[in-house]
Amino acid sequence: MNGPQRTLLGNGTVVTGGAEPQVIAGGAVVWVGERIERVGDEPRLREEFPDAPYLDARGGLILPGFVNLHHHFYSALARGLDPGTPMRNFPEVLDRLWWRLDRALDEETVRISALLSAADCVRHGCTTVFDHHASPSWIQGSLDAIAGAVEEAGISAALCYEVTDRNGREGAEAGIEENLRFLRERASDPRIRGVFGVHASFTVSDETLAAVAEGRPDGAGCHIHVAEDPVDVQASVAAFGSGPMERLERFGLLDARALLAHGIHLEEVDYRRAARAGSILIHNPESNANNGVGRLDVCEAAGLGCTVGLGTDGMSSSMLRALRFAFLTHRGARRDPSSGFDILPELLTVNAVAARRFFPEPLLGELTPGAPADVIAVDSKPPTPLSRDNLFGHLAYGVSEAPVRHTVAHGRVLLEDYRHLTLDPQELAGQARELAPALWERFHSLSWGTPYLGHEGSI
Ligand SMILES: [Zn+2]
Repeated sequence: MNGPQRTLLGNGTVVTGGAEPQVIAGGAVVWVGERIERVGDEPRLREEFPDAPYLDARGGLILPGFVNLHHHFYSALARGLDPGTPMRNFPEVLDRLWWRLDRALDEETVRISALLSAADCVRHGCTTVFDHHASPSWIQGSLDAIAGAVEEAGISAALCYEVTDRNGREGAEAGIEENLRFLRERASDPRIRGVFGVHASFTVSDETLAAVAEGRPDGAGCHIHVAEDPVDVQASVAAFGSGPMERLERFGLLDARALLAHGIHLEEVDYRRAARAGSILIHNPESNANNGVGRLDVCEAAGLGCTVGLGTDGMSSSMLRALRFAFLTHRGARRDPSSGFDILPELLTVNAVAARRFFPEPLLGELTPGAPADVIAVDSKPPTPLSRDNLFGHLAYGVSEAPVRHTVAHGRVLLEDYRHLTLDPQELAGQARELAPALWERFHSLSWGTPYLGHEGSI
């Protein structure tokens, strides 16, 4: 009787990931079923497993699959969309673009956006993703549609619906219910997890935060935007007398599973709050640059004890590109060509360690026996010596510009020699192009001027 299939990925330089990454030139990874069985020198492993099907990395790097801590699948059909009105600051970007787009989404467009984004994750070697979803016109069941796309793609995901009061009390309650339902139904699913999504402090009332705090099951993390722009802090203070971090703390939502996207405009006392609670601060440098909202000083936050990870915030699904961008903008902003090597190399490691708090996988993000076989091969042949000490230099200056050749998640090959084996991005793009015009038409029929807390005409 045949057991689960064993596969060997070789002809590359293996970088094992984890806190103490090993670099194995001429290395290979062997997995059986969903789990990694062995990692080591290729000749020895090939001798030991001569019959294992062979996946060829063609001299590239063999790495653990990436983790993205903050994504928005729903933004996939915004590319090229002209809002038809100026967006002069961050509140206007939300109000005139994103809050109109999310209201225009329906079942079909939520589904196709998720499929496109999940396929993009596969293409960029991201095997675990945290998505933050909003579709106020179709809330109930929306997380199931996204979960279906993720399952079809073959990756793992932690999903949530962003609760907000900006669509009225009913909208807030429906968002809470969608999170609760999904958390309940996925409580024992090892690959698709639920977290509790909240939009941002400045669009949720105390009443809603209390309902989130009261309803959330033990251990369910809260995934929320924090201080992406000064408006979040100012409007929260104006409406409630305290900033977003203090509010989260007051409602008991700040803990080791709190996923705090951005955290740019916080005071030292707030970073200390996050550090004390062991919460995860998520840096999204590409999105921050795109919105002109400033930049998280990763060194400062980490220096105050914060755990800082990395996300793409819907800008792309490429963690390597986000890492390179984080590094270059850090140096550019500091005007210091010697900075960045002290903390930025940790970002992707933090992502993997943070993901272990949500998935029942204590070895997630490492190429080591017993870990889930989330393995990728990047088509970047090292032109110079590569060691643990100069690994980040290779990633930032070279590997980040190379395409991913193979993506394997839980032992299943999703991308082989650039060919997608689960989703078909070309076909999906064709379907999306058919759906986008009607979505954009609905978008243009919607007005802006949504009130938010602390703002004129507040909720
Ligand atoms: Zn976001």
